[in-house]
Formats: sequence, structure tokens, C-alpha cells
Amino acid sequence: MNHQLPYGLKNNQLVSIEDVEQGVACGCVCPSCGGQLIARKGAIRVHHFAHYQEVSCQHALETTLHLAAKAIIKEQKEFYIPSLEFWDVANGSTVQLFSERKLNFEKVELEVKMKAIQADIVAHIGKKQLIIELAVTHFIDKKKYQKIKALDISAIEVDLRALRKGFTKAELYEAVIKSIDNKKWIYNRQEDQLIHSYLQKKAKQKLQQQQEQERRIQRQQERALHYKRQKRIAINNGWNILQLHEYGGVCCPKIVREKATYFNNNSVISVLRKGARWNGMFYGQGANGKYVFLNGEKTIIFPKDSNLERSELEHENQKRIYGQLHAIRRAAMVDLDKCESCPYFDQYVNDSYSKFICKYQPLNTSHR
Ligand SMILES: [Zn+2]
Repeated sequence: MNHQLPYGLKNNQLVSIEDVEQGVACGCVCPSCGGQLIARKGAIRVHHFAHYQEVSCQHALETTLHLAAKAIIKEQKEFYIPSLEFWDVANGSTVQLFSERKLNFEKVELEVKMKAIQADIVAHIGKKQLIIELAVTHFIDKKKYQKIKALDISAIEVDLRALRKGFTKAELYEAVIKSIDNKKWIYNRQEDQLIHSYLQKKAKQKLQQQQEQERRIQRQQERALHYKRQKRIAINNGWNILQLHEYGGVCCPKIVREKATYFNNNSVISVLRKGARWNGMFYGQGANGKYVFLNGEKTIIFPKDSNLERSELEHENQKRIYGQLHAIRRAAMVDLDKCESCPYFDQYVNDSYSKFICKYQPLNTSHR
């Protein structure tokens, strides 16, 4: 058990191997057993103290580490604390109640006798206290935790196992002061309050989201109702509901009617002249015949080949009607930009798409 002791006690003060004379002239004793030490400052091995006489001193290094760690905190008065985290069960995530940071102490007391425990270190910032426990072999157990909790003073445990076989002053500073990986909160007196605040904030957010969702649904319902009402009014007034879509537009009923008057009266065109609605679309193809919807009614313009034996004259006549309908459509196809500035134009937005109401009313809407 000949660990390399980096510190010794001189006049009851911890002194580094670098600050003493070589050999027994160092005048140091072992912090653990009080036996005389010799300072070994050779050229090959790391400088260290050793017991002058061969003794079975088991705890020299651990005791020294403990003393040196306490001394460095008292001397530096600074200390990095780890973050405080909380497992949010409801949301399945870890929440940081506060982040890691550096503390600067105003006062540091060592080996403080408190009601139920003896604390390694009690550090002060104003009225705030922090217990720092240094652990090499004995870590805080449930019993000690309960006592600290009862005291209601925040406490951190510093794990110094990494230094138990020897250390330099720089390593000591790193492990005791700077590092946060080897530190953990045993108890934090603000924890409950911080969790409470977090959960309250979370609940408030959730409530706001719910309310926002309800408002959104209500707005949608109101819009749908509004649209339904407008649609009913439009239908009752005999207005056109024009729906613009990607593949085919709609025909302006005013232009359709005006254009239809240019042509000779025939059964299909005359319906349009009276103001029937036509969306400008042709349906059916080839041998199946062609038809359009006028006022929502299927109106054949080309009969099926098999249905009818057409005379030359009838055939010519149908071709003419088809041509006339094309001409009307070309003239009447709605251009939304123009449509929007039309006095007969009205628009209703139905959730995802726009519908347009054309308030143009032909003088005589009945064609039946
Ligand atoms: Zn000793």
C-alpha cells in the first residue's frame, strides 16, 4: 500500500510536495496516521511523500484527498454545479429545471456539525447554503439523504474515486471545482417548487392549445354554416353558384345569354338565350354521343350513333349547334380577375376552396 502521497501536513497545514524541501527536512507528517514523512523529489518518479518508517497506514491517500479537496474549495471559493433535471412522465421527456453553472461562494466552512449530520463542506452565498459531500469510498445512503432532506439544505455529492490512487493539484482542481460529470444533486430545496412551476406552465399551455383548437373548430363550423346560409339564399334568389376548378372554368351566365342571342334559334341555344346556366363543359365522346348540362339538366347535342339514323341535314344541324356552343364558351369563359370586378360577383370561402356566387339574373329564368 505505497500510494504516492502528493500532500503532507506541516504545522497542521496541508502542503504540496512542490512546496517543501527534499527528504526528512520537509518536516511533514502523514495526514492519516501522523507518522513522519519523507519528501521524495527525485529525477525519475513523480514527486511524492512517503512514510519515513515502514508502517501499515491504509488510508493515507484517501484522508489526504479528502483534506485537499476541502482545502481547495475553501481556497478557490468557486464551484460548478450540475444541472437539475426532472423526468416529465406525462410528456415522456427529461426537463432541465436549471442548467449547470458556476457558483462563487462568499464563505466556506469545513466539517460543520449540523443537527443530524456532520457536513464535509457548507458553502454560503448570502443566506443560501449548499452542503458539499466528498465521496471516495462512502457514498450518501438513504438514511443520510433523509437527514439532509429534513434539514432542507441543498446538497451535492462529489465523486472523487478517480483520484483515489494519486492526483496532482490540477487534477484535483478539475475534479473538485470544474467537472460536473462526477457531481450529483442529493437534494435540492427548490426542486419541488421548480417542478410545480413547470407543471403549471405545461398545464396552462395545454389548456391554451385546447382552447385554440376549440376556437378553430368553432370558426370552421361558423364558416360552414355561413356558407350553407349563403348558398340557400343564392339558390332561393336564382343566383348561380360558380365553382372554379383546375380543369375547366365556368361560363359567365351574362355573356352566355348575350352570345346566344347572336345565333339562330334552335332547341339548345334557345334555352341559353332564356338564361339557363351552363358551366361550359361538354360531356361524352365519339359514338356515345355528346351532351351538356343546362340548368343542371342533361341536354343531348349529339345523339349516340346507334340510337338514331341521322339525315345529312340533321348531322349538319348538330355540327352547327356544337360549333355555336364552342363559340359561346370561348366568349363566356370566366376570367377570375375580370369576374371579381363584376358587380354581380360575390365570393364565399368554404374551408379549403372558394366558391363564387354570380348574382346576375336573366329576366326570364324559366325555360320549362
Ligand atoms: Zn500514515
